[in-house]
Amino acid sequence: MRILITNDDGIRAPGLEALVRVATKFGEVKVVAPDRERSACGHAMTMRDPLRVSKFNWPEVEAMEVNGVPVDCVNVGLTVAWPDGCDLVLSGINNGPNLGFDITYSGTVAGAMEGTINGIRSISLSMALFVSGAPIHYETGMTWLEHNWEMLTTAPQGDLTFLNVNIPSIAYPEIRGHRVTKMGQRVYQDRVEVRHDPWGRPYYWQGGVVVMEPNQPGTDVQAVSEGFVSITPVSLDWTNRGLMEHLSESMKQVDATL
Ligand code: MN
Repeated sequence: MRILITNDDGIRAPGLEALVRVATKFGEVKVVAPDRERSACGHAMTMRDPLRVSKFNWPEVEAMEVNGVPVDCVNVGLTVAWPDGCDLVLSGINNGPNLGFDITYSGTVAGAMEGTINGIRSISLSMALFVSGAPIHYETGMTWLEHNWEMLTTAPQGDLTFLNVNIPSIAYPEIRGHRVTKMGQRVYQDRVEVRHDPWGRPYYWQGGVVVMEPNQPGTDVQAVSEGFVSITPVSLDWTNRGLMEHLSESMKQVDATL
């Protein structure tokens, strides 16, 4: 199995190393990752600047660092590392959760999205850590992934769909199992913080505190908050099909009044 691995925490991130260590047990791995942290870059791509690729010294696997974001890494990876294509794109393991609306900001998830657009089975993986600064149990992520590799890499794949996996950052024996989930809601409070520079001019810092309502049955948010690994099949087709007919009817009524 030919595997392309990327992330958004940068090529030196411990989560990337953890993912590579598991993946090499199952196939031939090539790493193409950003040369520095690019978290929260979403599905951005670099178009106005050249992309530079350098060999990264990694024992046992071919690795390259790119001065770009995860989408760039997947596309450059499919040009340079796997020019004849590959069988699996993995992105992560991210240093923090990618739940609910966060997946639209996530560079980790964007790596899997880009693999999917290229017609390749893709999976994004994140450690669901809820207290900043707490230790991240990558070893839990590694053990879980190794045990579930077969299931994840052979599971039926919907059209234009990838799997977004969040593993609670707790000791492995505390993991209660896994749940297939839908996207929940993760809302931030005080998203923009106003600060002042030494000259008294205001500047703004985006971050905010997550207000997570864990009581969201069936969601990724609830699963990880209860100690389950969350697996969400995410479709790149964002169309709200249930609304199409109703919207169409409403528009007809507008037309009738013209
Ligand atoms: Mn990240």
